[in-house]
Amino acid sequence: MPRPTTSFTHLAGVPVHYDRLPAPHHYGTRGQARTFYCEQRFINALEDAFRELWDVCPHGQAQVITSAGAYVDKGGQHGAGRAFDLDGIFWRDRTFITNEYPDDSRFYVAAEAVLRKHFGVILNYEWNRAHHDHFHLDQSISVGYRTNKNTTLFVQMALRHVLGQPTVTIDGNSGSGTRGGLRAVLPALGLARVHEIDTSAKLAQKMQDIWLEFCDRVAARGFQQPAASQPADARPPAPAPGAPDADDRENLRTAPTPLETGQPTPALAMSRQLTYRIDGVWQVLAGVRRSRLPEE
Ligand SMILES: [Zn+2]
Repeated sequence: MPRPTTSFTHLAGVPVHYDRLPAPHHYGTRGQARTFYCEQRFINALEDAFRELWDVCPHGQAQVITSAGAYVDKGGQHGAGRAFDLDGIFWRDRTFITNEYPDDSRFYVAAEAVLRKHFGVILNYEWNRAHHDHFHLDQSISVGYRTNKNTTLFVQMALRHVLGQPTVTIDGNSGSGTRGGLRAVLPALGLARVHEIDTSAKLAQKMQDIWLEFCDRVAARGFQQPAASQPADARPPAPAPGAPDADDRENLRTAPTPLETGQPTPALAMSRQLTYRIDGVWQVLAGVRRSRLPEE
């Protein structure tokens, strides 16, 4: 694809620098001024996203945004001029580098929560190794809640690092652990009533309805001081690990319990093996589907 004719050197009033150069402009530094090319519509989305970030973040407007690139002469969203790789943000009194996620996860998730309101696809640290050092932002999927791996990773990161649900596993699979985490926090946040989210379908619908507000809450809480210094009543309720949802209870009712059956019968053992095999096939199929998502 030819290079877009529209370009930018600043976003929301802040210079954007390239930081994938030899020292002293290497990754993790403030980099060097550069012109980046994108379609105008995508530039507008970046402007909106960073303007909102300056509004929401306690550090206000930053001094420098660092990037690994926008338009690149290749395929995919970068080649179309509709993608941006965010490496870091420098404020006067705060530095945010995306590869510091393991030690800065709360702030990382808060920043992503703001970006999620503007970009339907964000490939982050948990997506794969290639994204340990930047957020990939594009709009190939519209903004909103989905149970796909991309969105689920963010929801799990939010539950675990910001919303006080440390037992939630970050694996991209939207299962009972993730649903249990959401059921523990949504009523406490005033975003849903218990009966509105008691099945998987109702919970997914609710998450779609409240998605932007959910992102707002995650950003607001993530940008607060760490939970340890918050008053107890500001924290979400204790986690409910492994609490089965209505759907799971439905499944459990139809399956014989060990108490009912005593020792597992050969038939039960066989059905369990079959279940594991089906799970395995699903994992493989899910992996194939995931690998088709834009990854850059
Ligand atoms: Zn990218």
